[in-house]
Amino acid sequence: MPLVAAAAARPGRRRIRLATSARILQPESVGSARAGTGVDEIVGRWRDAERVVVLTGAGLSTDSGIPDFRSPGGRWETYRPVTLQEFQSSEASRRAYWRYKGETWQVVRAARPNPAHEALVALAHAGRIDLLVTQNVDGLHERSGFPADRLVNVHGTDAEVACLRCGRREPRATAQAEWEAGVDVPACPCGAPWKPATISFGQSLVEEDLERAFRAAADCELFVAAGTSLVVGPINRMFDLARGAGAFTAILTASDTPYDSLARARSGERLGEVLPRIARGVLGEIH
Ligand SMILES: [Zn+2]
Repeated sequence: MPLVAAAAARPGRRRIRLATSARILQPESVGSARAGTGVDEIVGRWRDAERVVVLTGAGLSTDSGIPDFRSPGGRWETYRPVTLQEFQSSEASRRAYWRYKGETWQVVRAARPNPAHEALVALAHAGRIDLLVTQNVDGLHERSGFPADRLVNVHGTDAEVACLRCGRREPRATAQAEWEAGVDVPACPCGAPWKPATISFGQSLVEEDLERAFRAAADCELFVAAGTSLVVGPINRMFDLARGAGAFTAILTASDTPYDSLARARSGERLGEVLPRIARGVLGEIH
């Protein structure tokens, strides 16, 4: 009996992996997680889990004042994405691309990490995040001080420029200053055009980054999707991989996602409020 009592008193222990056991112990946590449910349970799971993987998306940066640049009614609504092939073959496309990227970077550059970014940094510094994969290209995770060795920018970053010919990469500042000074398409020292180091439409993801993200998802005990609507593939497969491996899955996103009915915990609260609360709950319990 003491064994049963111990298990019941600590319902979040990771050794309880079988769905049947979990259902008996935690009937309220399985299935049909509604917005706002399960945050306390996320805290318990995060405290107990040895391997935690987080995936972040645009919703994490909205509290920093960075809008979804392609949302309806937005300033950039009429912008048509330039594909990699267009960038490589057309000077007009390169100018259009830099016009869009140059203007958006002015917004991003002025933004600051928000309490959601800072909560993730605190969790990482306490060893409670094994890998953070972000779809964001705004560089705010780096600027918030998140450990670089545990961060994957799976869609690249606007904080750097890359040369598609010689492979050189540099911080964004110099090329951006040239664009602001009137250079339509800033160029690498080798003469080829600089391209902000994001993954464009028609451009392959970095295989090594994708593999690292998938491997971590398939081997974690807690998977948290924060601020992502989980509609962009292939990175949204992380959810399936984590779930398939028996991880506890949580979705902290304001909008609906295709995985809501499968998530073990679901909250649509503002990330700048809920993530700091979760971090306080997880870190406050460390002895
Ligand atoms: Zn070059």
